[in-house]
Amino acid sequence: MEHTPVTRPATERTWQAEVVVVGARCAGAATAMLLADVGHDALVLDRAPFPSDTVSTHVIARTGMVQLNRWGLLDALHASGAPRVTDVEIDTGAEVVARTIRDKHGVDHLLAPRRIVLDGILQDAALRSGARIETGVGVEGVLRDGTGRVVGVYGHDASGPVRVLARYVVGADGLGSRIARAVGAPLTLERPTSGASLYAYLAGPWSAIEYHVGHGALSGVFPTHGGEACVWVCTSEDVARRHQRSVPRDAVLTSLLRLLAPRLADRVEGAAQTSPVRGMLRMPNHLRRASGPGWALVGDAGYHRDAITGYGISDAFRDAELLANALDAALRDPGEEAAALAAYSRERERMALPVLDLTCELGTFPAPERFVELQRQLAVVIDEQAGELAARPSRVQAAVA
Ligand SMILES: Cc1cc2nc3c(=O)[nH]c(=O)nc-3n(C[C@H](O)[C@H](O)[C@H](O)COP(=O)(O)OP(=O)(O)OC[C@H]3O[C@@H](n4cnc5c(N)ncnc54)[C@H](O)[C@@H]3O)c2cc1C
Repeated sequence: MEHTPVTRPATERTWQAEVVVVGARCAGAATAMLLADVGHDALVLDRAPFPSDTVSTHVIARTGMVQLNRWGLLDALHASGAPRVTDVEIDTGAEVVARTIRDKHGVDHLLAPRRIVLDGILQDAALRSGARIETGVGVEGVLRDGTGRVVGVYGHDASGPVRVLARYVVGADGLGSRIARAVGAPLTLERPTSGASLYAYLAGPWSAIEYHVGHGALSGVFPTHGGEACVWVCTSEDVARRHQRSVPRDAVLTSLLRLLAPRLADRVEGAAQTSPVRGMLRMPNHLRRASGPGWALVGDAGYHRDAITGYGISDAFRDAELLANALDAALRDPGEEAAALAAYSRERERMALPVLDLTCELGTFPAPERFVELQRQLAVVIDEQAGELAARPSRVQAAVA
């Protein structure tokens, strides 16, 4: 665990905030937006420039859509040109099942907006609520007081060293979280690391979300801006690595589809690939301790799962709200800190675990029949969680309460 004294070199600039959030994407921007909504001074730091993309496919499950709806952000996403998707096709190998998204919990379509768009909309919403965002700031560690309590962060931007003093530090800095390392947040649950997820953008038109279940793979299509689709494949790390070694980098996706999802490969043949192939190998499945004195983790920084269930954005949205509520209670009454942060941790785990269990089993690529059954169970869990979130007050109602 790092013990950095609060006193730092005199050239350092010092900023102040009630809450400093490290990471300005799904988890960080949403947390800051919700804190600012209820009157807190939230400062978000990110080393990245924005707008910028990140490595991720981007279908938003019904739970995440419920959050965007409650937060009043769906109009902005529609205006961005993200197509409303109402049709889902599942190719089980034995048959193709077509479904229409049911109108439930205030959501009658799904979206798969590109991250450069989604993250920008969240950042704009956070700014409108009164949060501040500083980009180009790489955070290097946390500051502690004499009791060991975390009281801020330090890092650098282009002008030199900077430190931020805050009542709470939120690590929303993704899988490789510097904040998690600096506070020494241990893993509280770890499951075997699973597979690989690779994707690229293909020219369309594409209208339906598609899932293609194969032996040792799940592939699919997420229609997105400009008529293009994010076409992806999840498979074992071994298969992906072997393939990466044997074909040119930009041909990896189409060539894996030919091997693992021939019907989809036929469909994409001839469609122009408009991006390089990106993705991730060895995706961890774990939870970290959610909080400690003066700090908390949210999003991938505290909970990571294989991308096969396409659920990380929805997890981040749900947990951003749980955390913002907990920090709001603790900021208003420091005596509430322990109970509020314990509730955050408990609720995060209660809602994360059922999906994590299914994700881990899906990541072993069981036989297609079992795979389809697990997908059915996943849909039930997502529906239950979407209902639970939809029953909560909207952002506007919460802000005036
Ligand atoms: C291949 C792949 C496909 C996926 N597909 C889907 C999908 O279809 N649907 C879905 O819901 N989820 C999907 N996910 C998961 C989803 O991308 C993540 O769960 C989500 O991005 C988590 O958001 P986050 O805000 O926690 O972290 P991130 O999006 O990782 O953002 C972290 C931010 O922190 C900043 N940062 C990091 N370190 C520092 C530092 N030291 N100082 C300052 N800033 C820092 C980074 O610059 C970054 O902007 C996928 C993931 C992968 C890898």
